[in-house]
Amino acid sequence: MLCFMLKAVFPGSFDPPTLGHLNIIERAASIFDELLVVVAENRLKKYLFSADERIALMGELVKPWQHVSVAVCDSLIVEFMKQRDLRILLRGVRGPTDFDYEFELSIMNKGLDANIETLFMTTDPEYFVLRSSAIKELASFHGDISGMVPPVVAQALRSKY
Ligand code: ADP
Repeated sequence: MLCFMLKAVFPGSFDPPTLGHLNIIERAASIFDELLVVVAENRLKKYLFSADERIALMGELVKPWQHVSVAVCDSLIVEFMKQRDLRILLRGVRGPTDFDYEFELSIMNKGLDANIETLFMTTDPEYFVLRSSAIKELASFHGDISGMVPPVVAQALRSKY
């Protein structure tokens, strides 16, 4: 009998993590034997939260699941995955615009490493408008973000602005 351990990687900026990200993580945690949430550290991108801050926030959020862990990646995600012998790359999709971008990204990653399989998980309807960039903007104007991010993130945003 064949017995596979299903391990997936969920990479993103998570600047900061939102309830939309958490929804994908929660649902993926119920499917995969192991889930590694990978916080991207891209030197060309400007983040509000440092990699350490994003890892600490994500670390708090994934505490309920023993088989979900957090790592950082400052290289190509396909290289990161190859080094750890991981093949499933999970991405969340809010709608057709996300899908256009994610589709191209998956083709590019496939070109870099044919072993990598990108799987898409569509957002649950109540989260499809949640976007880290819009939430940061709202938080900077002291708008109410409590329904969009977990309390620990709302607190972190309040202390940034
Ligand atoms: P990136 O800069 O890699 O796009 P993000 O932190 O913006 O990083 O997003 C990480 C992943 O989570 C992406 O696959 C993105 O499409 C997905 N995502 C973001 N917000 C949501 C949401 N509200 N519902 C479902 N997926 C989402």
